[in-house]
Amino acid sequence: MPGVYISYPFCAQKCTYCNFSSGVFPRELEARYREALEREIRAHVWQWTPETVYLGGGTPSNLPPGALRALLSAVPGRPWVEATIEAAPGNITSDAAHAWAGAGIDRVSLGVQSFVEKELRRTGRTHTAPVVAAEIALLRAAGMRNINLDLIAGLSGQTEASWRESLDWVERLAPEHVSVYMLEVDQDSRLGKEMLLGGVRYGAGDAPSSDATADFYEFAVERLAALGIARYEISNFARPGFESRHNLKYWKLQPYAGFGADAHSFDGRTRHQNPESIEDYLSGAGQVDDVAHLTDERFFVGLRLSAGIRPDAAEWRRFASPIRRFLDAGLLVSDGATLRLTNRGVLLSNEVFQEFLNL
Ligand code: SF4
Repeated sequence: MPGVYISYPFCAQKCTYCNFSSGVFPRELEARYREALEREIRAHVWQWTPETVYLGGGTPSNLPPGALRALLSAVPGRPWVEATIEAAPGNITSDAAHAWAGAGIDRVSLGVQSFVEKELRRTGRTHTAPVVAAEIALLRAAGMRNINLDLIAGLSGQTEASWRESLDWVERLAPEHVSVYMLEVDQDSRLGKEMLLGGVRYGAGDAPSSDATADFYEFAVERLAALGIARYEISNFARPGFESRHNLKYWKLQPYAGFGADAHSFDGRTRHQNPESIEDYLSGAGQVDDVAHLTDERFFVGLRLSAGIRPDAAEWRRFASPIRRFLDAGLLVSDGATLRLTNRGVLLSNEVFQEFLNL
């Protein structure tokens, strides 16, 4: 059954590591965006009843409760099997948590990134570890049965000791789901740009090396596994039964409908992308459509999953040469029917995927 993604690209501040097209915009624009978003959802002709809903961004937790209710009341299928809201810790109130639950939300994804004050201040985030703990208690009291914590390995100032400290907090707070991302170093974020081009404003000089970041990631994989939170996708870890039903749709190439600026949709054959900028979205610029190359995509998105993929006979033949090379190099492992990335293959996954995409 398909899913629904709703994009809310407005944030209270722009985090130094963030390379999304979200940011801080005038309030007047935000109000117009909410109206356009609701219109887009209401005008949608539903060919199917959604099973999952995901409000991402940006910071959809900043949506006024009335606006959130209005948006979700336009999505059929409630109660959904899973309905997630991404939230920025630091200003979650009991009223907000109850309003989310009342609108049908049962899963909250908290953009914690780190529990260490020195690292957090450099990202531009304003929360502290005790604030996150208090807000999780509020969310639990409001009935949230599923909480995800996002962490980033590779933040400026991060050390082995500080990374352990963040993972100690994860153990203490006992979430159902954890996402661990390795910092993406590119010119689309202020920190990434400084790491590539030099500068002292965002702490690039204090960022761990890429080898240290990879070590932190691997340490997290082991530590979370010991807590019963197992990796099921390269960046995602869950207790049994709490794997994200919505995000699994992306990796299993199941359909989803996206609403809002830069939202993507996939109907099983064709991909659609809404205009990336808020202004273009509001001006009614058209979607970009692209026929999906399902065989190639199935291969590389499927390999992101710890369960791997079961290539069919044609795929074994078509990809025989890279498969052999990666098996020999210890980046892939196979039991004859399935193909999975090894731990080393996960760290070099971009190289592996690139090879399959180029065929
Ligand atoms: S990381 Fe999240 S909260 Fe920070 S700017 Fe990016 S989208 Fe906004």
